[in-house]
Formats: sequence, structure tokens, C-alpha cells
Amino acid sequence: MCGPCCPGKPNVKRIRIGSQEIGVSGYDEILAEGLRHLNESDEQQKQVILKELQARNYVPKDSEKEYLAAMWDEFKQVRAKRLGQIEERYHGIPREEIPWFPRVDEDRCTGCGACVKFCQKGVYVLDDKAKVVNPYRCVVSCTGCLNQCKEGALSFPTLVELRDTMKALRQKHGILPG
Ligand code: SF4
Ligand code: SF4
Repeated sequence: MCGPCCPGKPNVKRIRIGSQEIGVSGYDEILAEGLRHLNESDEQQKQVILKELQARNYVPKDSEKEYLAAMWDEFKQVRAKRLGQIEERYHGIPREEIPWFPRVDEDRCTGCGACVKFCQKGVYVLDDKAKVVNPYRCVVSCTGCLNQCKEGALSFPTLVELRDTMKALRQKHGILPG
């Protein structure tokens, strides 16, 4: 019988899934496996988390989305700590509501990789051409990689557009201008 001292015993953490608290077996291992895929897109990382979760736990088919959403929230916190750079919120607004990230003009991009190499946030991957795979890791108002592109293939919203967007989002969330 496996006791608490058994070295092979998987760790269990209770997390809120939907309206219930449920013990997730292999919690640390699931997150650690996700962290091995940091260079992949959020969608790919989600698939890894789900696969690892299912390998260690019974996940009812009709609750799969809720299980994944809960584990994804846990993973994002660990990932943010690891990267030390992702902001889940920006001035109180969920980062994913702010449309600030680079756009790549595929007709102009030669796939030189300069922008991919320059960005330390994992926003891009190089796949023949530069691809923005993690747009919300881009630092709001940063345009650091823009000048790396000699082909003029990168673009960002203007600062005026950003200001107007932020104003509308502050209103939506009831946040007074700082
Ligand atoms: S720097 Fe410009 S040309 Fe080079 S990969 Fe990035 S977008 Fe493409
Ligand atoms: S603007 Fe900054 S954070 Fe955003 S993709 Fe470019 S270098 Fe990365």
C-alpha cells in the first residue's frame, strides 16, 4: 500500500474546477510538462496541459473545457513567474482585451528571423516567415522589434489608437484614468 513517504506517489493539489474543488493528481508534473513547451503557442501549450491532465486524472468528457480552463489558469501563473515578464493585466485591464501586438506582412517578410531573435517575450516563432504566436505576451506600447525589420514587414497600432482603445476599455471596466 502506498503511503505518504512513497517516492512514486503523485502529488495532488485541490483546485477549483467549475463550482467544485477537485484534487488534481500529478499537478506539479502537469505544469512542469507545460513549461517544457514555452516556445510553442498558447493553443499548443493548452493541448499539452490537457493531455497530461488526462494521462493522470479522470476527466469527464462533458467537463473537459472546465478542467482545462482551471488548469490553464494555474499554468499561466506558473508560466508568468517562470518568464518573469508576462502581464495578465495591464493597468487593471485583462491583457487579452488589448489589441497591442505586431502584425507581419507576409508578402514583405523574407524570414530573416531578426524580429524573432530580438524579442525576448516569445511573441514570435520563425516558420519560413515570422509568425506571431503569442500576441498577448507583447509588452503594451513596446515597438522594440519594429526597427529590426529592414523589409518594413512589421506594424503596430498607432499610439493614438492605443490611447483610444485604453480609454474605451477603462470605461468598460469602470476604471478611472490614472
Ligand atoms: S525581421 Fe522582418 S523580414 Fe525578418 S523575419 Fe521579422 S518580419 Fe520577417
Ligand atoms: S514589441 Fe517588444 S515585446 Fe512586442 S514583439 Fe516586439 S520586441 Fe517583443
